[in-house]
Amino acid sequence: MFLQSQIAISIIVPVFNEEDNLLELHKRLTTTLTNIGKPYEIFFVDDGSSDNSLKTLQKIQEKDSQVTIIKLARNFGQHPAIVAALHRVKGEAIVLIDADLQNPPEEIIPLYEKFLEGIDVVYGIRAGREDVGWRMFGSNFVIWLTEKMLGVKVPSDMISGFRIIHRKVAQTLNNIKEQQYDTSIMMLWLGFSHSGVVVRHDNRVSGESKYNIWKLLYLTLDMLIGFSDFPLRAASIAGSLLALASIILATYMAILRVLGGVSVEGYTSLFVGITFLAGIQLLFLGIIGEYIARIYRELKGRPYYVIGEIYSSQPDLTQDSYAATKTERHRLF
Ligand code: UDP
Ligand code: MG
Repeated sequence: MFLQSQIAISIIVPVFNEEDNLLELHKRLTTTLTNIGKPYEIFFVDDGSSDNSLKTLQKIQEKDSQVTIIKLARNFGQHPAIVAALHRVKGEAIVLIDADLQNPPEEIIPLYEKFLEGIDVVYGIRAGREDVGWRMFGSNFVIWLTEKMLGVKVPSDMISGFRIIHRKVAQTLNNIKEQQYDTSIMMLWLGFSHSGVVVRHDNRVSGESKYNIWKLLYLTLDMLIGFSDFPLRAASIAGSLLALASIILATYMAILRVLGGVSVEGYTSLFVGITFLAGIQLLFLGIIGEYIARIYRELKGRPYYVIGEIYSSQPDLTQDSYAATKTERHRLF
């Protein structure tokens, strides 16, 4: 085992039901890291998997002292899983990589070379991205919307999860009190230097994507609401425009009545008008509700993730978790 202070590279892999990908992933990671030739550690975060992911990881961990497993108490989501490891890694370069082998572990090498040039956030730009059409469209739309609403330029594919961040970026993220934010946009917002490297993007080796359209929509909403007041301001803008439109319409109808004695007919127009306005009002109430729900969530201050167990050869890690006090479950060196 390497001395902790010597660790150059920490790998973080969030794992949710990935049993068939883990052995190959570990093998390819180990080969790549051995080729780089610097001291490293690998953190697998089991995000409440219901398949044999944890068992497979334990087998890997028993043979490889560079591996640590953080088992979360339940499924908290990919981002909380990553944050659980970010709080504990020791390397100077921290690699975030998915477990499904869509990000080829070998591509860590070009990312790391860029990192060594002194860039704080190096992300993989997915060449020939292997995702379905609606996801590609959605992803481009989200980037466009983010740029418009946040007024920042989002570099091509920066929101992909495959990246290397400097320890200082992780420390800054760890010190942010706010819990629920999009890490890519937060890194832009914080202003760290960043650069992309084109990397291969493969098909998932086994299993299915853990994201459906609703989860992705919710994440997008979180991102937009988390970084912009625009949706709230849109209510004032829409309200002012509608008020203006109604004044113009009222004047027009008054003129018609005075000049031609025409009275405006219309059960239909009244009905359409009322439902339209009711729709707009409910929409904006919903938006305000989304902000309030987030304020409430942050205010309650519940933990972002809860650790069930830590399996590691690093004693400070296993002692660190109150849930990991049963030392017989861990190999302590
Ligand atoms: N993941 C996780 N918790 C979840 C969902 C996903 O830890 O609730 C992990 C998953 O195991 C994978 C990574 O996050 O390592 C990315 O997930 P996925 O490949 O399903 O996303 P996609 O590539 O489709 O965006
Ligand atoms: Mg994937």
